[in-house]
Amino acid sequence: MSLIKSSEEIELIRESALLVSKTLGMLAKEIKPGISTLKLDSLAENFIRDNDAEPGFLGLYDFPNTLCVSPNDQVVHGIPNEKEIENGDILSIDCGVLKNGYFGDHAYTFEVGEVESNVKQLLTVAKESLYLGIQQFKSGNRVGDVGFAIQNHNELNGYGVVRELVGHGIGKEMHEKPEMPNYGRKGTGKKFKDGMVVAIEPMINLGTSRINQLNDGWTILTKDGKPSVHFEHNIAIIDGKPRLLSTFDYIYESLGINSNEEDPFKD
Ligand code: MG
Ligand code: MG
Repeated sequence: MSLIKSSEEIELIRESALLVSKTLGMLAKEIKPGISTLKLDSLAENFIRDNDAEPGFLGLYDFPNTLCVSPNDQVVHGIPNEKEIENGDILSIDCGVLKNGYFGDHAYTFEVGEVESNVKQLLTVAKESLYLGIQQFKSGNRVGDVGFAIQNHNELNGYGVVRELVGHGIGKEMHEKPEMPNYGRKGTGKKFKDGMVVAIEPMINLGTSRINQLNDGWTILTKDGKPSVHFEHNIAIIDGKPRLLSTFDYIYESLGINSNEEDPFKD
């Protein structure tokens, strides 16, 4: 696999990334107290298949479902189940699709009903850090520039940056090189060039950065039981600049939110 994608390949990854974005937009309308995460999973699987694509996570490393759904103190890789979500929960949903031989991979943390103000602040800061990281994904910069921007913003706000799980290149494989840590030193690591496509995905904890894994072999949760959030975009470098292939716009449309946060990364 090549780190550099052709413009045709970037358009195919964009198509897959946009289908993930639409899937999350569809789910945004369904996320209410009383629905189970397994129900959300089946809605997502049907939606993806109806759009001539396959769930990207189902069967990947033997993962059993279409969505990773990680409530509250779960960081990532939560397995959907029959438990109903409740008012005040947060729900990190990570979704991948495979269409025309290319993957998309995109995540958002949703609020269920009314969420505590300190958790709202965590959501705001973590999402800001995603865009600060994306700003650094441009020709001539390096992997450490993205990681530093994400780490710095979250740690200045007192939050824990998960180290064990990282972003990645994406294309014909879900997980390609380079690894994209959410921490790092400026000016270090792989140099970025036009045509690179990556997933940047900060996983940010209200408390400690330390994590545990459940004995289901998948679910990652915070060591101190405090909430964790996860935002992920797919981004290409085009004409030297970061360009979003995924979008939160479908989520915002479903939730009635006006946002111009993605404008700097669109043509
Ligand atoms: Mg990813
Ligand atoms: Mg993901």
